Amino acid sequence: MTSANLSAPDAAGTGDALPWRNSFAGLGESFFTRLQAQALPDPYWVGRNRGMARELGLQAEWFESQAALEAFTGNQVLPGSDPLASVYSGHQFGVWAGQLGDGRALLLGEIDTPNGPQEIQLKGAGKTPYSRMGDGRAVLRSSIREFLCSEAMHGLGIPTTRALCVTGSDAPVRREEIETAAVVARTAPSFIRFGHFEHFSYTGQHEQLKTLADYVIDRFYPECREAPQPYAALLEAVSARTAQLMAGWQAVGFCHGVMNTDNMSILGLTIDYGPFQFLDAFDPGHVCNHSDTQGRYAYNRQPNMAYWNLFCLGQALLPLIEDQEQALAALEPYKTLFPDALQARMRSKLGLADEQAEDKILVDNTFKLLAANKVDYSIFWRRLNGFTAQSGHEPGRDLFFDRESFNAWALQYSQRLAGVDQGLRAGLMQNNNPKFVLRNHLGEEAIRAAKLKDFSGVDTLLTLLQAPFEEHPGHDSFAGFPPDWASSIEISCSS
Ligand code: AMP
Ligand code: MG
Repeated sequence: MTSANLSAPDAAGTGDALPWRNSFAGLGESFFTRLQAQALPDPYWVGRNRGMARELGLQAEWFESQAALEAFTGNQVLPGSDPLASVYSGHQFGVWAGQLGDGRALLLGEIDTPNGPQEIQLKGAGKTPYSRMGDGRAVLRSSIREFLCSEAMHGLGIPTTRALCVTGSDAPVRREEIETAAVVARTAPSFIRFGHFEHFSYTGQHEQLKTLADYVIDRFYPECREAPQPYAALLEAVSARTAQLMAGWQAVGFCHGVMNTDNMSILGLTIDYGPFQFLDAFDPGHVCNHSDTQGRYAYNRQPNMAYWNLFCLGQALLPLIEDQEQALAALEPYKTLFPDALQARMRSKLGLADEQAEDKILVDNTFKLLAANKVDYSIFWRRLNGFTAQSGHEPGRDLFFDRESFNAWALQYSQRLAGVDQGLRAGLMQNNNPKFVLRNHLGEEAIRAAKLKDFSGVDTLLTLLQAPFEEHPGHDSFAGFPPDWASSIEISCSS
């Protein structure tokens, strides 16, 4: 044994020595309430994202320790962190809801990482001044879903908050039935939402509104500082990121379920995983949230709802932009950026590296064909990777009850592929048509096992979903059709 092995382990990357910065806490008292997490008894690990821990610069050994378990459950304060709950407001289901805020999330602060500063939040860490009627807790079920889907989205190349770990406790939590508590440690460069801006705007705290906008510009949108009207430039830049985000969601068949303005990230990240769902059969009007009785957040309405939310952000920023016409003009590019970004994503799914005039018609026809035949969305695209103009493409055709329509579409697609480099096409499709998405039933199976303290399913799904375009031999059952019982899974806002 060398002397290096005998020496005390370096403290760097352990909970005692994380490089905290906590810039959000510097914004001032109007933005948050400082408080500690409420402890949970006898915590245990449910899921650990060791790759993320590495990215954050956490020491591998420490991430396995009891100290880390206690810290990420909120039972021990990490020295240098500055836990707080932030205040925000928002429009929920189209209606002004007034003050909301971090009702069950605690921002521990922000650490320096090789990928830039990252905030760490504990979701489910107990009551805060913004809990309203809530208990400040999150249940095991929804925490596993958030943990897995954050990493699934990242694996798919869609902007998202990330997830470091989930811990559980047998402490009971009352929902429709009695469940148990869990805490997700999630990370992002910032958790600021549209609702933060709405809060300071509608409460007339315009100085704080400016402080917040300047903070966001200086840290995340520095190019806006150079614009003649930095706040209009910010609105336009957020719109552009949101357009990209919507294109990502639509292309992969993701339904968020609760696109309220308090669930919209100022960085254009997918945030607050609740009743989300990846489409099984392609149904454009699908509503994944059973509490959304009006279908406000149906799959095919998401891009318009994002625009509606951006409009709210624009209104909130008006005291800074000062000119309504200029605010409206900043929102205008979304109307072309979103469809262009979606077309680009869909062309990649079709394996088309360049753009031709008729591609939009081909994409539209594809959506229509999938809808008319209620074809499984992810399986269709993955099977399409094997399409060749010469073959009859039986694996793809088998998904359609209307074979004639499929044949007509396949002919159109074959004609478009004439002259396309097949190697290039194969590569594009391989990287854009995932084999593995977090379907409801897959999450459900992992959750059922986890309730019995078998966390291996969470681990397996994490591995598959972090690399969803890979084959993962031996795991084809995770890439198959949903079982019949999948359609009876009811996902509501309750989490
Ligand atoms: P959501 O729609 O889940 O993003 O939540 C909307 C608002 O309700 C946010 O302010 C949450 O912090 C808060 N909230 C949701 N669930 C709870 C809970 N169990 N306890 C306290 N606050 C909650
Ligand atoms: Mg929320």
